[in-house]
Amino acid sequence: MGPLGHTVVSGAVAGGVWAATGSMPAAGIALGVGVLMDVDHLYDYYHRYVKREDGQIFVLLHAWEYSLVGLAVWAFVFLNPLLLGAVLGHLAHVTTDHVANHLSRYAYSIVYRVAHGFDAAYIFPSGNSVHSHKPAFWLLQLDRRLGNWLEYRIEALFRGSVRRAARSEATSTPADD
Ligand SMILES: [Zn+2]
Repeated sequence: MGPLGHTVVSGAVAGGVWAATGSMPAAGIALGVGVLMDVDHLYDYYHRYVKREDGQIFVLLHAWEYSLVGLAVWAFVFLNPLLLGAVLGHLAHVTTDHVANHLSRYAYSIVYRVAHGFDAAYIFPSGNSVHSHKPAFWLLQLDRRLGNWLEYRIEALFRGSVRRAARSEATSTPADD
């Protein structure tokens, strides 16, 4: 799912957290975690464009396990509204990505991804990609387009910095003295 969808879903979750806990900061954390979790894609871009290693998907923050561990910690150890906000924001993000992105059934399990060496072939079944599925609802289509545009811009930034680094490496003369 793209940034628009995550903002709408996380906004609703934040409203629920606020109503349930009466804590505005907890609601803010739910919204922040739900929207900003996709920052982990930056590591994947770094891996792909700077290290030039393809064929793996990391998205290290995307995993059911973190939500479940967080919920257990909240329920049994640390009954704190801020933790609840973070956990619910995270859970909402992973759930909406799982439903909207049509990846393999276990794609959002970090244990599954580690066990398969983050191999993209296990995450995108039969060569499917997150971009190949067209959402039926216009708002989701707009969200997908916005997400793709953002991804394209970030990829371009990474490619540009890699090109600049390669150029400056080629023009600099080695210092022998
Ligand atoms: Zn995501």
